[in-house]
Amino acid sequence: MPAYVDTHCHLDAPEFGADAAAVRERAAQAGVAHCVIPAVQAGAFDAVRTLAHRWGDSYALGIHPLCTGEAREADLAELDRRLGELRGDPRLVAVGEIGLDHFVPGLDRERQAFFLREQLRLARRHRLPVILHVRRSADHLLKHLRELPVGGIAHAFNGSGQQARAFVELGFKLGFGGAVTFERALQLRRLAADLPLSALVLETDAPDIPPHWLYRTAADRAAGLAQGRNEPAELPRIAQVVAGLRGLPPDALAEATTGNACEALPRLRSLLAPARSG
Ligand code: ZN
Repeated sequence: MPAYVDTHCHLDAPEFGADAAAVRERAAQAGVAHCVIPAVQAGAFDAVRTLAHRWGDSYALGIHPLCTGEAREADLAELDRRLGELRGDPRLVAVGEIGLDHFVPGLDRERQAFFLREQLRLARRHRLPVILHVRRSADHLLKHLRELPVGGIAHAFNGSGQQARAFVELGFKLGFGGAVTFERALQLRRLAADLPLSALVLETDAPDIPPHWLYRTAADRAAGLAQGRNEPAELPRIAQVVAGLRGLPPDALAEATTGNACEALPRLRSLLAPARSG
């Protein structure tokens, strides 16, 4: 069975509160060997670290653009302090989830940019890659990254081919997940098929971005069906879709994307080494 890395799943989210351990176990049974758990706010730093250590996974610390409204500037000092304190923790693999969201209305873009730039500086200072949230904001993010260069993963990538190539040139891998399973996602599916294999990593973004087989339309929801909760156990089926688009056997995609994840988040390499535990 191919072994997958879910490079982005929020296993600390309240949606997993009651049965997170069962969710992680199902993922393991399905062939997900490793999960990267990014924090979205300072209040989650302890939780993601604890979960990553409990399950042999990894984590990232950062402040999500959608959380910058409530975040305080003191949270940046706290992040700096934690990154220093946890310097020797092999399971701390990145600064994230950070970025810009220009899709959700009513957010203060300048405040988002301030938190982004401060966190890019912290990533550089602590020599860590970043996990980026890019939503209708690719060109703005690229501009900041050119000024404060750092590598990592552009998660749930959904930009143009030109933007994809620009991220790759700056040292990023692009995260593909549930969105690519929708037949109408033509541009995204073309990217998943045509980008160099070396540019791709896989993710679920669980509990968000359900693949089409879990997705409930507005009409479904009006009829009382709850939106399907996405979970990392869906990753192999999502990978099958990507493998199909590329005409690759799933095993080859699993192997290549695992290697790519290690390139993007170099500390993963020692965590994934076979016959090593703890
Ligand atoms: Zn996320």
